[in-house]
Amino acid sequence: MCTKCHKIKPLDQFNRDSRRLDGRRAQCRECQNKHRVETEKDKIRKSKWKQDNPEKHKQHVRKYMKKQRENITPQYIKVLTKQTNPNFIKCYQEHIKLFRLINQLNQ
Ligand SMILES: [Zn+2]
Repeated sequence: MCTKCHKIKPLDQFNRDSRRLDGRRAQCRECQNKHRVETEKDKIRKSKWKQDNPEKHKQHVRKYMKKQRENITPQYIKVLTKQTNPNFIKCYQEHIKLFRLINQLNQ
């Protein structure tokens, strides 16, 4: 049975998915195709919006960057540098990169 349209369909209407226990997708092909089309449309819509509203998009990015910057407090960095977990160091490096990007944006 498809988890999306709740219709009982023959197994050949489901794509194979080796990650799943039953070896089949939970959604039928029809629903998957619909979903794919929708995400494609959404992508196109978003990139079109970006083209039509370059200023708004820039503002959007800035807002996001500002939020990111507010998250980086001295305590936060202190905690990060105390961590020996390489993931945290990587994360910290990512933030440094972000910092530079923000500075470039603000110039
Ligand atoms: Zn379905």
